[in-house]
Amino acid sequence: MSGKGPVTRCFFVRLLSIHARTFSYRVLEKAIEEPEPVDQDSREGVFENSLVIFITIEAEDTVDLIEEASAEILDISSKVKPASIVLYPYAHLSPQLALPNKAIEVLTALYDVLKQKAGIPVYKAPFGWYKSFKLECYGHPLSELSRTITKKTQPGKKILEKEFYIVTPSGEIYAPDKFDYAGYSELKILVDKEVYGKEFEGGENRVNYYCKKFGLEWESMSDHGHMRYSPYAAVMIEAVSRYSWQVARALGLPVFRIIGTNMFNLKEKPVYEHASLFGDRLYEIEVDGEKYVLRYAACHQQFAMLKDWVISYKDLPFGVFEVADSYRLEQRGELSLCFRLRKFYMPDLHILTRDFREAIEVSKIVQRQIHSEARKVGRKYVALYNITRDFFENYRDVLVEFIKNDGYPALVAVIPPGIYYWVLNVEYHIIDNLNRPREIATFQIDTGNSRRFGIAYVDEKGDRRYPIIIHTAIIGSIERYIYMVLDTAAYMERNGQVPALPTWLSPVQVRVIPVSKEYNEYAYNVAKRILDEGFRVDVDDRDITLGKKIREAGILWIPYIIVLGKREFETQTLNVRIRVTNKQVTLKLEEFIKMLRKECEEYPQVEPYFPMSLSKQPVFLS
Ligand SMILES: [Zn+2]
Repeated sequence: MSGKGPVTRCFFVRLLSIHARTFSYRVLEKAIEEPEPVDQDSREGVFENSLVIFITIEAEDTVDLIEEASAEILDISSKVKPASIVLYPYAHLSPQLALPNKAIEVLTALYDVLKQKAGIPVYKAPFGWYKSFKLECYGHPLSELSRTITKKTQPGKKILEKEFYIVTPSGEIYAPDKFDYAGYSELKILVDKEVYGKEFEGGENRVNYYCKKFGLEWESMSDHGHMRYSPYAAVMIEAVSRYSWQVARALGLPVFRIIGTNMFNLKEKPVYEHASLFGDRLYEIEVDGEKYVLRYAACHQQFAMLKDWVISYKDLPFGVFEVADSYRLEQRGELSLCFRLRKFYMPDLHILTRDFREAIEVSKIVQRQIHSEARKVGRKYVALYNITRDFFENYRDVLVEFIKNDGYPALVAVIPPGIYYWVLNVEYHIIDNLNRPREIATFQIDTGNSRRFGIAYVDEKGDRRYPIIIHTAIIGSIERYIYMVLDTAAYMERNGQVPALPTWLSPVQVRVIPVSKEYNEYAYNVAKRILDEGFRVDVDDRDITLGKKIREAGILWIPYIIVLGKREFETQTLNVRIRVTNKQVTLKLEEFIKMLRKECEEYPQVEPYFPMSLSKQPVFLS
């Protein structure tokens, strides 16, 4: 899956204008994969008394800047009175260049405006070529000027003109200010944020506190927004990763799992096209003079691989899955542990379908699974449907059917066409312990990327056709799923319950505590038996008091604490303290194992990422 799209950022055009007595250039060779085409006229040029504009388009310039840039150029032109103007793309004024297609688009638009308004001939040297040039400057005071034209988009301001509606499961449509939110407080919170841009009150997020407990923490030696995972946290990441695969397979469609790489060359046309449709949270790096985008989801890799597959209509629908390390340049002020990260793991599933109708049917299966996974951790979602105007007008019945399946009114944002790669993008939010909407799961229907990447199948008649692709993260990113689970614990705590993790996800599922050294042996034997069953168990054989051992196990939310002493040894039983019920029971070892197995049977097993004996473990939690 991928994200939302346009966010906020600075835009620049850098200009260096030189009033030249003579200027000439000649195209030499390609500087990028797909440069602007050249013809006889643009291959070389010789100019006299010309205003030469060396121009760099930085980052993702918008067309908004063209007016300002052209006014600037015309102003200089009116003062120095050249015979012509030459626009000369020049990459060397900035280290952060726009994507080539964007740069060409902006340059061409600027060229068109200047041609209309300059009143003298305007020329443009082609973009994307190495060129040689010769220049003689007049040297008067106005003959060399440099300008930077900047536009800063305001955080919180919507760039897009969206229209919002509330659509109910029975198909009624309301303007957001006309809907009665009584009984729909979650929807109200989502509407306040998305429609009215309401800032939420701060407060201490309990999730941050819980994250520390398990060693889900920031890595200060990396970029901002990168996490590291202690042995306990790493277990959680692995358990959720394996679970996400299990969930993908549970859809009942054929699913293929792959492993890909994480950086893609922006010179590749589909890569930069997809990148420009994704928006501006791209995390870019430069290697050997080439620009790469770090993948923001698994789309690039899966699409780049799928274009090489030979696919028949008989194979469809099928899914491709990867738990992909993913990168997004989120704003620093918005970073949040396990939620808004610059690097995270995305269990990303793309499902290829034959056509739009099939995509809708398969999306319903995905949607059911999304809700079912939230219910399993005691949560329910409120949905934001981002849709194109075309979808809103022509597939209203489909929209209502989806919302009926949600069983709860949804916020619908109608977006002009051609801005994103999807026609439908559903975000499922929880309302967290600070009353903020938090997007967890998503699915999207994508009509453009199969053609863009050249992914095709052969239909019944032997014709080549482009599949419709569903993007989905059924349980959200790995970290966000953990966020949701920890947030659920925050609600438990607030409601006077004992905060707890599900046993399958608890880093240490069982801790065995011998009351004194003489029972260490018994404790090891019990723990080994539990370990053999695939559960994560350790033995607190440290030389500290029983009270302290039990307290520490409680701090770690260990679901089962087994205390072993004389009576247990003599009767060969276990004294088991159960966290969620706060009860103690006496069980035979085999009974205990049977109970654990039953409790975790629908979830993956991950072996412990730590040795069994606590007396041999360094302190790895801060
Ligand atoms: Zn995707």
